[in-house]
Amino acid sequence: MSGQSLFMCNVHASQNTAASHYQRMHIITNTHTHHALTIGLNRALNQGFLRHEAAKSRLTFFAVTPAREFNQRSLSGRIIFASLNFSLLLEIPVHSGQSAPMQGCLGRVSWLAVFLGMATAAFAQAWTRLPRTELYGNEYLRLSQWAEAYKFDLRTQGDTAIVTSRWSRLVFKADSRQAEIRGVVVHLSVPVARQGNEFFIGTMDVATVLQPLLFNVNSPKVTVRSICIDPGHGGKDPGNLEGKFQEKRYTLLLAQELQKALKAAGLKATLSRSTDIYHDPADRPSIARRQKADLLVSLHYNSAADSSARGIETYCMTPAKASSTNARGEGTNTGAYPANSFDPHNILLAWHVQNAMVQKLGLPDRGVRRARFAVLRFSAMPAILVEGGFMSNPADMARIADATHRKKMAQAIADGILAYKKAIESP
Ligand SMILES: [Zn+2]
Repeated sequence: MSGQSLFMCNVHASQNTAASHYQRMHIITNTHTHHALTIGLNRALNQGFLRHEAAKSRLTFFAVTPAREFNQRSLSGRIIFASLNFSLLLEIPVHSGQSAPMQGCLGRVSWLAVFLGMATAAFAQAWTRLPRTELYGNEYLRLSQWAEAYKFDLRTQGDTAIVTSRWSRLVFKADSRQAEIRGVVVHLSVPVARQGNEFFIGTMDVATVLQPLLFNVNSPKVTVRSICIDPGHGGKDPGNLEGKFQEKRYTLLLAQELQKALKAAGLKATLSRSTDIYHDPADRPSIARRQKADLLVSLHYNSAADSSARGIETYCMTPAKASSTNARGEGTNTGAYPANSFDPHNILLAWHVQNAMVQKLGLPDRGVRRARFAVLRFSAMPAILVEGGFMSNPADMARIADATHRKKMAQAIADGILAYKKAIESP
């Protein structure tokens, strides 16, 4: 078995309920892969760890260790495969949050690929070996080559390119920074380019959007036990004003509901302010740090000159060198900040929270966006800023002022945080 060769196959694991003391895994392979797997498995077989039955293109093995000695996490195969010197590339299924059914049995777990003799991380980084192209002053990869590297399916029609895989559907539009990633609008750093039928995606967007959203980002190890909720504005700073309505009042009310929802889910949740007092936005990350929070979630409501603008946005820190999505000009330089060390977690958290809000509230999805807001760029932990609706839009404002809607929004944000927690804490 060549340690450096790449073998792709689909792995389907299913729990054998008839023999509950054993875990059975069916590995559907091609002949070539099957041969390599067999050699690898034999090592473990020699140690008495596994026994197996092999057929020509179908291989079944049994973990001899009684199933009850494995907890659910280890059942995901890491223990078994690690002992075989196999690494798994995990294309992570979407967890839609607290209300989603738990992946309670192995039968519902699938692995996209088995990658022999190399580390999981190295495989997830396969895109780094793809050729780069310079277009319009930005560096791009061919979307077709990126899709091929991960065995994703690519279809193009006119100015639209759709990439599909077992867990994901990605929609790109030529000359647009707006993509749809697993059902959520995500703003890219550079527009998707097209030449004839060939689509190109910015290298920066592959690194800072696609990889963290499609593959596991549980390294370096980050856990989620405590969340600092930051109600925007306060005291002398009312935030957006719409008639008698002040943003600072509604961000605090939403924060208090979110705190209840997170506590009910067993997490620690603190507030950066619990009364109508002023903190400089740049000081809020240090409040979160003093509270020993693992995440910082800042809550705001939007306003626009055009009163028809409505819907929900979630911001996370702009990657180094990229330009932001926000139109207000704060932090428009393209430098790097310490907060950029959390880039993969920032976007994953933003995606999960935006996804939960859009799914559960049915409001327009204005997307995951990028900004170097002070509360984000000085953060010493993964951080997002939620814009929960437009005070300048009468229908949005009515919802913002409505206690029942506020409770639902708080629960949706909490569900998003829980889905993120589950995603990063999965093995
Ligand atoms: Zn605000």
